Amino acid sequence: GVEIRLASRPQGFPTHENFETVEAPVTAPGEGRILVRNVVMSVDPSMRGRMNDTKSYVPPFQLGKALEGGAVGEVIASASPLFQVGQHVLHYGGWREYASVQAERAVPVDPDAAPLNAYLGVLGMPGWTAYVGLFEIAKFKAGDTVFVSGAAGAVGSLAGQLAKLNGAAKVIGSAGSAEKVRHITEDLGFDAAFNYKDGSIREQLAEAAPDGVDVYFDNVGGDHLEAAIDQLNDFGRVAACGAISVYNDTEPAPGPRNLFKIVKKRLSIRGFIVIDHEDLRERFQADVAPLVRDGKIRYTETVLEGLRNAPDALIGQLRGENTGKMLVTI
Ligand code: NDP
Repeated sequence: GVEIRLASRPQGFPTHENFETVEAPVTAPGEGRILVRNVVMSVDPSMRGRMNDTKSYVPPFQLGKALEGGAVGEVIASASPLFQVGQHVLHYGGWREYASVQAERAVPVDPDAAPLNAYLGVLGMPGWTAYVGLFEIAKFKAGDTVFVSGAAGAVGSLAGQLAKLNGAAKVIGSAGSAEKVRHITEDLGFDAAFNYKDGSIREQLAEAAPDGVDVYFDNVGGDHLEAAIDQLNDFGRVAACGAISVYNDTEPAPGPRNLFKIVKKRLSIRGFIVIDHEDLRERFQADVAPLVRDGKIRYTETVLEGLRNAPDALIGQLRGENTGKMLVTI
């Protein structure tokens, strides 16, 4: 089966030269393992970080080895009592047509309860991230005014909708195109949105939130974080979820110039990694799955067909080519 390997580590934006498409042999699963034919894989901004050889909360991808990421597929051979042939599973052996997976590390998914794609997006890791960031990290409460950056993406689109459904006074989003701004307000029900490429983020945020912001859900970092610190109210809270504006930087970008306002305004800025919050995964599923089923939460996907297009999907995601969850069907 085809797999995509890391050929070299990128300097700045990744290019096609950093990836290599290889035909690898498919072998029967060893004891305790299952062989999965992948159906759909997730493309995540954090994959860019793993292309660098730096220490982080997950190990870097290895040169010459297949990249890895969330995927859903069908069990086609099993050497474990945990799974039978024909079952669908979520696992972390993406970027391959066929993955040999340790059975304990695979999670069964029900294709009748939700479309398989949803287990990688709104009902999967990105959805769980939005839930943890909003409720656990930013301590969102009804009446808060919420600002979400990356608002047309997988995490941001759900964070904003959850705030709205739970009684936010106002939800404001930012994104990188006029069509995304339209999508956020008209399809997802945000109260206001702006295109951060249209001009000063600080000015556009001040205009959208004249009474200030109580919660900032930060997917972007950089200028967005600086603008949010300016606009946050006293005792405002920031869920520091991601900083995609700096993921391709070759030199560390200068930080927000207004950090002293953290003191003056008694702000809380807290970073988090969703996998530390396993305790909230079930509550997230129980709360959000019915909202998705009933159409109270909307979600969008950008799907590229064919594993060979996975590098394009990741490069495209880092340039904003996706609306909603970026996926590759295999
Ligand atoms: P998205 O679906 O939001 O895709 C990424 C989006 O980022 C692009 O579509 C693009 O949209 C936007 N973007 C790219 N470059 C820039 C830039 N320079 N400035 C502003 N926006 C930019 O991805 P996810 O929803 O999966 O992830 C969103 C964030 O959450 C990321 O930062 C990711 O690393 C983080 N994350 C953190 C987790 C955690 O545990 N802490 C877990 C999962 C994700 P646009 O057109 O608007 O620019």
